[in-house]
Amino acid sequence: MIFLETITTSEKRLCVEVGTRYFYYGDTPGNYDYENPGTQRWVELSEAELRARIREAAELIVESKKNVALTGAGISVESGIPDFRGPNGLWKRYGEHVGHISFFFTNPGEFWKFALEVAKVIFAARPNPAHYALAELEKMGKLHCIITQNIDGLHQKAGSKNVIEIHGTAWRLVCLQCGTKFPVEEIASKLMSKGFTIPRCLKCEGILKPDTVFFGERLPEEELKIAISESMSCDLFMVVGSSLVVYPAASLPGIAKSHGAKTILVNLERTAMDEMFDVVIYGKAGEILPKIVEEVKKMM
Ligand SMILES: [Zn+2]
Repeated sequence: MIFLETITTSEKRLCVEVGTRYFYYGDTPGNYDYENPGTQRWVELSEAELRARIREAAELIVESKKNVALTGAGISVESGIPDFRGPNGLWKRYGEHVGHISFFFTNPGEFWKFALEVAKVIFAARPNPAHYALAELEKMGKLHCIITQNIDGLHQKAGSKNVIEIHGTAWRLVCLQCGTKFPVEEIASKLMSKGFTIPRCLKCEGILKPDTVFFGERLPEEELKIAISESMSCDLFMVVGSSLVVYPAASLPGIAKSHGAKTILVNLERTAMDEMFDVVIYGKAGEILPKIVEEVKKMM
């Protein structure tokens, strides 16, 4: 099997798997579709074309009255958080069943061992230039809100204020029995001091679960409602670092577009929805977004 390995810095390399071992081809750029061997995932843009598209995106931002951004795993990968879905992602390593709510109910102890390992990475991660660029746009009055599929809290760490977390957050725990929510810090010290135990509610001793959306669970209703209404009422919708394969998030740019919004896509790879966007830029969010913000500043 041939596949792309995602390296923490969002670099990818082409690998070939033989039995249980795999080898990689030096520093092959990641412009390769591992599901359809022989095809490229994106079109290499010339320097001039890239500059032109960055300028177009900046123009749309300057002209917009209400700009909404949707962010996905691609923006977090650049902060060292592995993409759960990628070829070397967490679901490939642990099995997708670990993220299913029924697994949590039957094996909370095993789930929490997995979660602690993931949590170490998430809590230590730092925002990258893409997160800071979005926070800056908000401060400039050129970004109304961020709808994010990420659970890592990196937008808030970068200074963004209006963040709608449609898949929940790893920074909060919820009691399955009484529904009380706790910031992770409140529970973490107790958890660590006792050695490993399943975290329990400080009020009723019920089992605590990360306040994130598991497979088999509904999205938080309030957040989803807000995300849809913001998508319907904006006049610019930017997608950053999402391959637009996870619904309902993937339907938001279509909702915005059908209500008259302009659309921008910044993603490392092609998506099935590229045609729908007014401006498409393939590249690392951490490199592209600061350049867009720079242009916006020049125009304002
Ligand atoms: Zn409780």
